[in-house]
Amino acid sequence: MDSYVVSAAVRERLARPQPLLIGGHWCEAADGGVSDIFNPSNGEQLGTAASATRDDCERAIAAARQSFDGGSWTALTPAQRGKILWRVADLLEEYGDEVAELEMLDAGKPFAAVRQGEIPFAADCFRYFAGWCTKIEGSTKQLSTVPGQEFHIYTRREPIGVAALIVPWNGPLVQAAWKVAPALAAGCSCILKPATETPLSSVKLGEILVEAGVPEGVFNLLLGSGASAGQLLAEHPDVDKVSFTGSTDVGKRIIDAARGNLKKVSLELGGKSPVVVFADADIEAAIAGVAQGIFSHAGQVCVAGSRLYVEEPVYEEVVAGVAAIARNMRVGPATAPDMDMGPLISKRHLASVFELVQEGIKSGARLMAGGQQIAEQGGYYMEPTVFADTRHGMRIVEEEIFGPVLAAMPFKSDTDIAALANDNDYGLAASVWTRDISRAHKTAARLKAGILWINCHGIPDAAVPFGGYRQSGWGRENGFESLLQYTELKSVVASL
Ligand code: NAP
Ligand code: MG
Repeated sequence: MDSYVVSAAVRERLARPQPLLIGGHWCEAADGGVSDIFNPSNGEQLGTAASATRDDCERAIAAARQSFDGGSWTALTPAQRGKILWRVADLLEEYGDEVAELEMLDAGKPFAAVRQGEIPFAADCFRYFAGWCTKIEGSTKQLSTVPGQEFHIYTRREPIGVAALIVPWNGPLVQAAWKVAPALAAGCSCILKPATETPLSSVKLGEILVEAGVPEGVFNLLLGSGASAGQLLAEHPDVDKVSFTGSTDVGKRIIDAARGNLKKVSLELGGKSPVVVFADADIEAAIAGVAQGIFSHAGQVCVAGSRLYVEEPVYEEVVAGVAAIARNMRVGPATAPDMDMGPLISKRHLASVFELVQEGIKSGARLMAGGQQIAEQGGYYMEPTVFADTRHGMRIVEEEIFGPVLAAMPFKSDTDIAALANDNDYGLAASVWTRDISRAHKTAARLKAGILWINCHGIPDAAVPFGGYRQSGWGRENGFESLLQYTELKSVVASL
């Protein structure tokens, strides 16, 4: 039974439409339009959010452009900018309970997971990039083409300009942090557009950025639909860069939209990440790691380990172990303190996950656990589901489900496991479980994935680059590599 009582601060916040932030001013949409926001744990309406009009988008882009061209952010010293970003991290922690409550209600994430996981992680991200502000450097070069003449040649790393940051609903705060922090550290002005389903933590993040001292117009927030606001940002000639996280289909649309002014594009897209368990692995640790890799946030994680390959001698043991964990998981409202797994984001998403599970059953895969929707207080729940004896060619093996659904298959010791695991359009993440250090690193080298874990799965860090091979995207988030994607490189050749 979900007896959660919303705090007074959040109730007050939800009583009015979630606002836009344009040029330092919080405002409603120009035409007063709103969209409804729902709590996926019970299906009830939480409130409404402003739905930006074309004019609002134009004003946000103009505000970002003006602040960037006017230099209000870049006029600060790197140390001053770093201090502000560090302050953002402190404030995220200070307001941690409220931010966690917003994310729990809006995205269906259990409170403890947000409070103890995502908030410190988002704060770390701002601290990590705060440190880079003072370390953005060029280099000096030597010239060989003109003998007998003296030159001074150097490179400059300059902020790329106005960056549009478009994020999905599965990790609204963290994914916003992964983009806002490096964009601001590089000296850009930006416009954040969260997913229509999950605007709440972005509004709070905007308030925190203002409170921390980010000058007006440097950070702008647009709420509204991807098809209108998102598309306009990707198309707009005054936007210099778009960084997008979401589905591969929309990623391709962003590329088309960006071609008008050839704005720079980085894309974090879908995945169908393989998990390879060799017979010599610590089987108990592997079983727990596989379950955590697919069931955390109900599988609505881009790096979810959704294809499981297990070496034959331990195949039945591993699959049975993961299925036992699945059957024992407590699934229910994110607002209840003792749940292992919360809801899916929406009714529509639940329907699409359920349809693929039904198709898996029809295609002859052996259902080891789950398979059903759970009718619970109007929320959108799916049982943690484990399929054994799946094959390449089945939709549950080929397609990203973005739900708590694992497709397992055995492999023989003489199988080229890297070739098998690589037989997919995506290439975001992978994990390898073995005690053989040589095999671990050899397999790591051969798997086509932007991030590869050995004897663990799904551990992110602000310092560790993250992104996709192949149709999982372009570019990397986190690490210095991410910062570089918000810069242009200029070479200066001076004849002395
Ligand atoms: P989505 O439809 O691609 O939406 C992602 C974001 O893009 C939302 O803010 C969305 O706005 C916006 N958008 C939609 N159409 C747009 C357009 N034509 N132009 C510009 N922006 C547009 O993804 P989703 O279904 O909400 O999220 C789940 C998917 O995201 C999964 O399939 C998963 O693969 C992927 N994902 C990937 C990663 C990663 O890091 N690689 C992380 C999380 C999720 P609206 O909300 O208004 O539609
Ligand atoms: Mg919501």
